[in-house]
Amino acid sequence: MTQIYNFSAGPAVLPKPVLERAQAEMLDWHGSGMSVMEMSHRGKEFTSILAKTEADLRTLLNIPDNYKVLFLQGGAIAENAIIPMNLLGADLKTGEADYVVTGAWSKRSVEDASAYGKINVVATSEVESSEAEKFTHVPAFSSWKLNKDAAYLHICTNETINGVEFDGLPDAGNVPIVADMSSHILSRPIDVSQYGVIYGGAQKNIGPAGLCIVIVRDDLLDRASPLTPAVFNWKTQAENQSMINTPPTYSIYIAGLVFEWLLAQGGVVAIEQQNIAKATLLYNYIDSTAFYSNNVALNNRSRMNIPFFLRDESLNDAFLKGAEANGLLQLKGHRMVGGMRASIYNAMPIAGVQALVAYMQAFEQAH
Ligand SMILES: *Cc1c(COP(=O)(O)O)cnc(C)c1O
Repeated sequence: MTQIYNFSAGPAVLPKPVLERAQAEMLDWHGSGMSVMEMSHRGKEFTSILAKTEADLRTLLNIPDNYKVLFLQGGAIAENAIIPMNLLGADLKTGEADYVVTGAWSKRSVEDASAYGKINVVATSEVESSEAEKFTHVPAFSSWKLNKDAAYLHICTNETINGVEFDGLPDAGNVPIVADMSSHILSRPIDVSQYGVIYGGAQKNIGPAGLCIVIVRDDLLDRASPLTPAVFNWKTQAENQSMINTPPTYSIYIAGLVFEWLLAQGGVVAIEQQNIAKATLLYNYIDSTAFYSNNVALNNRSRMNIPFFLRDESLNDAFLKGAEANGLLQLKGHRMVGGMRASIYNAMPIAGVQALVAYMQAFEQAH
């Protein structure tokens, strides 16, 4: 049987040992006689799973004590509305926030948040005149027109669709930075204390869809509009261990297994080295030939999501068909960008990237 490598942008590949462990524990979790799916979220079994999952995430990201970790639903897209509701203040209409647009996801965040308050786009890399240059870099921090009275500054630190990743963070003064890290959380060490809020949907680099993780500094919990639904009110959820409603229990359990796996790999410091090695392998090959290209600025090339184009786009279908026949799945680029995209999250082994490069070389030779 052909070895399969799944390059999906999300829901995405999970570590095989995690899936095997979930399989082994499927019918009877730790002698409880129940599947995790069948447990009360308030019972001692599940509350122990939740506590361990949070503790392991805190260890992995070195999360300071003055940050709450919330396990919510609605995905990162729901957060586009939940964030202004929680942070713009009691009277939404008078609230203002700064947003930076570096790709499709942060653009969507602006559109969604605009219903709730005054949203200032303080920098953008959306080049209207040129499809080829659109969303290919993070604008220089010095060019951002930041407002010192903004309630927060929103960024997307890895643009999944465009393959643009932040290289460092701007100095936002006292304005809390709110970062959508859906597609690169846990791929590298970060300093949580530089952020007010970090959030991400689980289905890229953490676990199954249905879970959204929010890490929020506790002094930001007092600003919600009274219109905020209780399930999306960070303070209410923080005071109730994310259990004001039934949390996505099975997704949390799998996320917990992924965190254990990551700790066993040596944590984010070790996985970063692997991620650098994988991304370098693919970018170096793309750059070595005119047959393929990637037009993202070198210092903003994502280690997780790598869009690339064939010089002759009429070969796209043949490329994808051959890839699939070689066990290389889900390489078609996002419809907004076209071309190809290889998502190489933590769970993608380097052998998968080696197999992709070998296929790309063979395809180039054949054409
Ligand atoms: C996938 C993704 C989203 C959307 O996540 P949903 O779970 O579909 O809401 C938002 N932001 C980024 C950066 C993403 O990668």
